[in-house]
Amino acid sequence: MTSLVWLRHDLRVYDNPALFKAAESGQGVVAVYVHCDAYVKLHVIAPAQLDFVRRHLLVMQKKLTALNIPLLVVRVKKPAEIAPALLRVAQDFSAEYCYFNAEYPLNELNRDLAVNQLLRDNGILVKRCHDRCIVPPGMIRNGQGDPYKVFTAFKKKWLQTVMPVTLQPLALPAKQPAVSNINAASAKEIDQLFTGHELRDLSALWPAGEDEAYRRLDLFIERSLSRYLDQRDFPAIEGTSTLSPYFAVGSLSPRQALSAVLAYTHGEWDGGNAGANCWIGELIWREFYQHVAVDYPQVCKRKAMQAHTEAFPWRYDKTEFSAWCDGKTGIPIVDAAMRQLNATGWMHNRLRMVVAMFLTKNCQIDWRWGEDYFMSQLIDGEFTANNGGWQWSASTGTDAAPYFRIFNPISQSERFDPNGEFIRKWVPELAHLSNKQIHNPPAVKNYPRPFVDLSASRKETIALFAQLPPIAR
Ligand code: FAD
Repeated sequence: MTSLVWLRHDLRVYDNPALFKAAESGQGVVAVYVHCDAYVKLHVIAPAQLDFVRRHLLVMQKKLTALNIPLLVVRVKKPAEIAPALLRVAQDFSAEYCYFNAEYPLNELNRDLAVNQLLRDNGILVKRCHDRCIVPPGMIRNGQGDPYKVFTAFKKKWLQTVMPVTLQPLALPAKQPAVSNINAASAKEIDQLFTGHELRDLSALWPAGEDEAYRRLDLFIERSLSRYLDQRDFPAIEGTSTLSPYFAVGSLSPRQALSAVLAYTHGEWDGGNAGANCWIGELIWREFYQHVAVDYPQVCKRKAMQAHTEAFPWRYDKTEFSAWCDGKTGIPIVDAAMRQLNATGWMHNRLRMVVAMFLTKNCQIDWRWGEDYFMSQLIDGEFTANNGGWQWSASTGTDAAPYFRIFNPISQSERFDPNGEFIRKWVPELAHLSNKQIHNPPAVKNYPRPFVDLSASRKETIALFAQLPPIAR
């Protein structure tokens, strides 16, 4: 029995359930990666992430070759061509099974249903595994059998579900007997998948591959985990793991991350290590938004999670939006954060909330514009976390920040970048200012004046939210 493994956002050989299960039969495995041109636009995949995927495929090709598993690559134009392309590959070497790891947003679910149907119609059995979440969507329910809308309740139930379970990541799959007449894709063929798309090489900042992901995980646990609770909100400190790009393309699984933390705490979930508890909480946020995408599919259709907030009169001012994108709003912490994003493909979590609230609550610009811009730049762009973060900030989502609680970017700056270190790094025009002045500067040559009055816009936004129709229950 030979099996096809369809790789997507699971670009690793360790703890990869689809790959592991396919290899268990030990009769020969072929892996395939399908690049769909239309998805790049449809899902707004950043050039930095596209290149990160390309580099991961080059690493995967070598790792799979060592297991005698050839990696094939296929390029299609439209989503409708994916299922027939996979069928052709499977038939080429008479595969009897096709394995893949589930993906949960609506487009991906529909794509996988179409693949399942076509392959089964042609006598190939499809096996869908779970690796993106430790607890797959649909399994966390309240007493009435309904999904949770609030994170804290979800987290409690998630912990009750996971704590009794042994979390042993899967080992390297067994080496396979060669599959005849199938040659792995060359590096050139992998590169050719992406010709015509803009690629951005950030390899100096973000080396590719699961070895690098594991190196970062180990380093983070050793150096920063125990201080995570105290340091994670300060962008000038390297206090977070910077693992999000690796989770996004799947070179690290959440189970690998969680079990490494539990090894460090000697199996203690909530015993004394506040940093570890807090970081586990972030992994649960990640899962929460994936569950939300399945339970509330309207979020996958560019709709607000809370329908009544669709009536908010969002603005569509292109000049203000461009100033935000370019880091030229005149609010130093916002500008520093946007410049970090534009330069590195990544932004610190505290600042993602600050810039998202500024755009939606002070500029009153539609959160969907911000969501798209983030996806167009982020190397860690991931639909569920990004959409969840934007809807949280805009108070349109599940567990939404109450609309009257609006971050003041200047107070946030004073609190989380007290010496202006982060601002000085990214907004050199202000580097000469004192620690006090830098958060809310006087007129400075070559630096814009703010175009929005923070206090007046805040009041106006609260009034507009208060006028929305009541929540439908
Ligand atoms: P750490 O602090 O080390 O956290 C560990 C991991 O937990 C992260 O790598 C991430 O996988 C997960 N995580 C942490 N915080 C969150 C969160 N609030 N929601 C979901 N998962 C979380 N994260 C993405 O991975 N991709 C995105 O496209 C994305 N867009 C965002 C947009 C907005 C507006 C906001 C407010 C947040 C967004 N986040 C996104 C969540 C969060 O900002 C990043 O995951 C985090 O900054 C990544 O840095 P890190 O790996 O050092 O995180």
